[in-house]
Amino acid sequence: MNIREALGWAVSELRSAGVDTPERDARAIVAAIKGIEPMRLRLMPGDPLGSIADQRTLDESLTARKHGMPVSKIIGRRAFWKHDFHVTTEVLDPRPETEILVELALQEPFTRVLDLGTGSGCILISLLAERPAAKGVGTDISEKAVLIAGGNAARIGVADRIILPLSDWWDDVGGQYDLIVSNPPYIAAAEMIDLQTEVRDFDPREALTDEADGLTAYRRISAGLMAHLTPGGRVLLEIGPTQADAVMAMLAGEGLTDITVHADLDGSDRIIGARKSM
Ligand code: GLN
Repeated sequence: MNIREALGWAVSELRSAGVDTPERDARAIVAAIKGIEPMRLRLMPGDPLGSIADQRTLDESLTARKHGMPVSKIIGRRAFWKHDFHVTTEVLDPRPETEILVELALQEPFTRVLDLGTGSGCILISLLAERPAAKGVGTDISEKAVLIAGGNAARIGVADRIILPLSDWWDDVGGQYDLIVSNPPYIAAAEMIDLQTEVRDFDPREALTDEADGLTAYRRISAGLMAHLTPGGRVLLEIGPTQADAVMAMLAGEGLTDITVHADLDGSDRIIGARKSM
């Protein structure tokens, strides 16, 4: 089977299974098997797909996609900000909205950054890659997540400036930071049923929901901010679209100032920022 044939087969398999974007997904899967960028496939239509094992990988990848697994988790790679991150079903798939948090973080200088619930490490590693003098701590309650984040840090070249402790929010965190970021689980238990299969079945449940009202993580995070921010330090948290008022009240209740809500490209409240006064 050559590349043109593999693509044709993959597209028809995905289309008949009702997958939304059969061409794009087929290109991403075949390119990953060849170890090249999807754009380059058209330069080599007559090249063989590869070995029998590669054909089997194609078959398995198409089956997984038909069962709703997102392409990123099939090929093990998701582009976020300026890098490709290794992802598996053990970490939250980085979302484009979360790049807004990175963009806001980069609007001011920072030297010590803490990411609570780092997952794949996409936020923290992107920030460290942009600021070569900064050092970072990324926590997670999942051992598998910190291993994945560690691999990403090494591949992206920031391993010498990052530590990745296992920690349940603040439990094993020390020190003070001039920037604290987090994209915690914020989906309420009752909302889990409404999620797309791609999210509900292929992101770790503990990265999505607190199994309660969706605000548990913000209560835990808020409680430790004053102790762990340097004077003048900033916090940036991703939130769900209905959570701004509740999270603003928590931050204000802890004594944080300059509380601001930023919308995503759909106009939904998405990031909340605040500061510890000098
Ligand atoms: N933004 C994700 C979603 O809507 C949720 C991720 C999270 O809970 N932090 O699926």
